[in-house]
Amino acid sequence: MRKNGTFVDVRVSLNPMSTAEVDYPEIVATVADITESKRMQEKVEFAADAYSTIFSMAVDGLIVHTVHGEIRDVNERVCTDTGFSHEELLAMRVTDLFPAKVRHLFDERRDEVLRDGFTFFETKLARKDGEALPVEINARTAKVWDEEVVLSAVHDISERKTAEAETRRRSVQLASLNEILKAATRSLELDLASKYVLAASMEESGAKSGVLILERPGGTGVFDLMASEGFTPEQLSKLDTDALKTELAELASVPWGAAVLDIPSMSADEKRGEIFDLFKEEGFSCALLVPVKKEERVTGVLCLASKRRNLFREEYRDFYNAAGAEVSVALQNAIIYRELAAEHERLALLYRSAQDISEQTGIDALLDTLAREAAEAIGADSALIAFVEPGRDEFVWRGAYNLDLGLLEGIHMPLDKGLGGEVVGSKRAVLTEVGEEPPEEVIRKDLLAGIFRGKKGIGVPLVSGDRILGVLTLQCPKELRVSDEDVFMLEAMGRHAGVGIENAMLYEETRLHLQALEVAHEELMELDRLKSDFVSTVSHELRSPLAVIEGFARTLVEHFDRVDPDTEKESLEIILKKSTILEGLIANILDMSRIEAGKLEVRFEVLDLRELCRRVIGDQERMVEVHEIELVAPDKEVKVVADPERVEVVLGNLMRNATKFSPEGGTVTISLREFGKMAEVSVTDEGIGVRREEQEKIFDRFYQVDSGENRAFPGTGLGLYITSELLRAMGGTIRVDSEPGKGSTFTFTLPLAGIEGVAEGQK
Ligand code: ADP
Repeated sequence: MRKNGTFVDVRVSLNPMSTAEVDYPEIVATVADITESKRMQEKVEFAADAYSTIFSMAVDGLIVHTVHGEIRDVNERVCTDTGFSHEELLAMRVTDLFPAKVRHLFDERRDEVLRDGFTFFETKLARKDGEALPVEINARTAKVWDEEVVLSAVHDISERKTAEAETRRRSVQLASLNEILKAATRSLELDLASKYVLAASMEESGAKSGVLILERPGGTGVFDLMASEGFTPEQLSKLDTDALKTELAELASVPWGAAVLDIPSMSADEKRGEIFDLFKEEGFSCALLVPVKKEERVTGVLCLASKRRNLFREEYRDFYNAAGAEVSVALQNAIIYRELAAEHERLALLYRSAQDISEQTGIDALLDTLAREAAEAIGADSALIAFVEPGRDEFVWRGAYNLDLGLLEGIHMPLDKGLGGEVVGSKRAVLTEVGEEPPEEVIRKDLLAGIFRGKKGIGVPLVSGDRILGVLTLQCPKELRVSDEDVFMLEAMGRHAGVGIENAMLYEETRLHLQALEVAHEELMELDRLKSDFVSTVSHELRSPLAVIEGFARTLVEHFDRVDPDTEKESLEIILKKSTILEGLIANILDMSRIEAGKLEVRFEVLDLRELCRRVIGDQERMVEVHEIELVAPDKEVKVVADPERVEVVLGNLMRNATKFSPEGGTVTISLREFGKMAEVSVTDEGIGVRREEQEKIFDRFYQVDSGENRAFPGTGLGLYITSELLRAMGGTIRVDSEPGKGSTFTFTLPLAGIEGVAEGQK
């Protein structure tokens, strides 16, 4: 204790002082101040304490070993990491802790740590149980207990290694995914896209066999094999059945998505359908089924199979699903593209057919075009067009493609029967599936059933506005797929055709009208021409007798006192003859204008035709010079009901023509007879005759066979026209019989008197 009351640590040593001179023992006390050294010791103790705490509590394993590898100390962590006990470890060399194949590294590491004082490396710890633990080692040299030792910190990096492996795997998967996606989007062509997807999936997964199946669009539940690789044709033919494809789709329709099948591990009772039998038989060990989806619906399956076990793993399912989702989108796009392309194709077809149809003006050509184009558009074998005609209660066969319309002759199909009947009833397109085949004898009787035998039928209305003009039926192969879009297209074609048919009908009608108008026009033109000819003819016909009359009259007047009586008589006779001609001409013109105005009046009386003939012959005989005139008549009167003046005109005209057109002379024979209820008068000459093609025309107004300026025979072309009109008005007829160069016979009839109803009727 110090003076100031504080204490100082001291060490006291007492030593006896043993000398002979001193009887009593003497002790020497040495007091040494030990404050500093005590503090040092405390420090050392504290450090040792801290060291041992840190050593034991360190998170990493710590190994103290000699530079030769003898282990001096280890902490608890080393025991847990290696599985050896503390005692066991102290008996081991540090190299024992590493797998045999990395031990050689230790010499290098030792040199490094001796040279640089530290080293750092990754390796694996060999555990007592034989497993290896990835570690990172940080070793430094130190001096402990005067010995040069190495302190190695062992850091467990297994988690980091797993994470690294996982990252690597992910990136490989991402690369695969990318490859598959690239393949899937390489083509919008569904077939190609399917092939690429399958090929890329096989390449990325290492599978050697695979198929891709897709559902036919429209929720059909029917699957098509879009692509396949690596399967033998026999395996494929077993796989490509509806049952197996549906089974694959079902297996892929699980909530967790991709299904991994480990085939050998499936026991017999666990087997899930034919696909297992098939894969087992063919020696496959595992298969992967990745669903192709549209929204939540499974619309296809990518199926990969391998003979290597565990090629596909449950734990990669996320990856499979991700790839499946990408592939689904790509394939969906291809499907949509295909549908759009099909739609485009349909529209183009429709456009073309509308164009083709509207180009046809004739109905038959139009129907042929329609039948052919409709059949070709959807792939039908044949087509038949039946019309619904006003006022008929059965179809009228009008057009066909690949069918003989002639065969349908005599086959009656009521408007409310059959496929056509259904179409007429609903005014919509109707589809019939292939029904049961009708028995042979029914087919023979009912040809229509024969045409549709074993075929799928489609009936399409041909409509214009809301009127149904007919039905187009198509006979299709039974396996042909007919989509809603196809039906819409056919209906549109039916509407186009309906309008086209109506137009063609109008066109046809207009054409006929036009033709009639043309004929009428031509007739009018002809009449016009005849009329203008007539005017010049008439003026000429009037002028020549007038000139003659004028000439003779002038001579008579100028020389009236010097003309001898014979010449005077002759002149007057000529004047009279020409005046008669003029009178006849004028009478004809007047008659014609009356006929034209519909004002021809005839009076009827009973007259003796024989008597009338004699009188007219008498008149005519005075005018002829070179002809013989003969009458052949019955011994009795021939009584007719007629207008005597008109009959005189008729007979006079015919006799004048007979003499006029037989310039060489000859006999003109008038024969009279009764024939049934009529009296018949023929005037026969031996003149120039009338050619057959002229025979009808000569009764037309103004018609002359030879009407030119320099014609051989005078005349106006009115005689026969007026003659036939007069006869018609009196209930009679006229006809001609002639041979050119030999002569003509004109025969007219008049009703006999006393025959009931005739005279009455005429009145
Ligand atoms: P036309 O005044 O010219 O005689 P018609 O009407 O009497 O007129 O006769 C019409 C045409 O018929 C004549 O131009 C002539 O070509 C022909 N024809 C009429 N009668 C005879 C006949 N007996 N023999 C030959 N041709 C005739």
